Amino acid sequence: RRQAASTPALSSAGASGSPPGVGSAKGSRPSLGTLNRSHLQRLAIAQSRVLIASGVPTVPVKNLTGSSPVNPALAGITGILMSAAGLPVCLTRPPKLVLHPPPVSKSEIQSIPGISHSCRKTTKKQAKKGKTPEEVLKKYLQKVRHPPDEDCTICMERLSAPSGYKGPQPAVKPDLVGKLVKCSHVFHLHCLVAMYNNGNKDGSLQCPTCKTIYGVKTGTQPPGKMEYHIIPHALPGHADCKTIRIIYNIPPGVQGPEHPNPGKSFTARGFPRHCYLPDSEKGRKVLKLLLVAWDRRLIFAIGTSSTTGESDTVIWNEIHHKTEFGSNLTGHGYPDINYLDNVLAELAAQGITEESLAQEKD
Ligand SMILES: [Zn+2]
Ligand SMILES: [Zn+2]
Repeated sequence: RRQAASTPALSSAGASGSPPGVGSAKGSRPSLGTLNRSHLQRLAIAQSRVLIASGVPTVPVKNLTGSSPVNPALAGITGILMSAAGLPVCLTRPPKLVLHPPPVSKSEIQSIPGISHSCRKTTKKQAKKGKTPEEVLKKYLQKVRHPPDEDCTICMERLSAPSGYKGPQPAVKPDLVGKLVKCSHVFHLHCLVAMYNNGNKDGSLQCPTCKTIYGVKTGTQPPGKMEYHIIPHALPGHADCKTIRIIYNIPPGVQGPEHPNPGKSFTARGFPRHCYLPDSEKGRKVLKLLLVAWDRRLIFAIGTSSTTGESDTVIWNEIHHKTEFGSNLTGHGYPDINYLDNVLAELAAQGITEESLAQEKD
């Protein structure tokens, strides 16, 4: 019966300090190395009382040496120490998925101070300004007389040689080279025009090398509705404030010219989609920027779902949302202390920052 006291599990747990749940015996407890059997038994009995009191289910534990039955009192403590040593002993219940908040009555829903309205439909597609791609790009480019001895990263040809782009010929000479004004990356003009024509031609340009955005980047989110309001319940990790709930609703429809398969229908799964932010100062800032992203059609796109593999369906577009209210089993829930900073970075990558809020008011 003494054998259990010299098992590797016991000695390694003793060396690594107090195992979980033994805190009640802390302080007055002698080190495990100097324990005799009666010490261990008293400790185990005290421990099993703690376990019963805290409602943790007990687990059957086999004698580690297998040669003799384990003293029931020792079995209890061995189970705890085994888990401390990293062995597969599970003393806690699996966490429960909580996707939605408790029911919210209409009278409990509040509008968000400082943010007007509580619903926004997708604004009409940005009016085309009638500019040719060449005119758009001119605003963002400087001419380069003597191209550097480098490759154009769009066509992979030398910048000193003509563009290697082989698609429909834009009306630009293939040997002209331009430098983007903010980031100084250099490309064939021909290649940039071809790239612009491949996009949604919204008057903006994103450097293919460093992703710097020129102009106002917009997306191809199909028409829909975004509702937002405060509900009284708190999110895990944000006990000190209420919660902002966003409800996105996008119906299925037919793809426009800016979508992957114009004229073909698209599906819209899982709508209305409910998303949550803490109603803190930072949470409200994120909401304001999400509203800008919504107006710029950047929250959703049409493409292939990475979870189901379905094509021609509405998908999230690189700005992560929290869709799990009361747990974090899907990775899209709370607590997540980095979430607000992460989503601010994702918004910034789409060209949406606090400066955008001022721009939108103009
Ligand atoms: Zn090129
Ligand atoms: Zn660049």
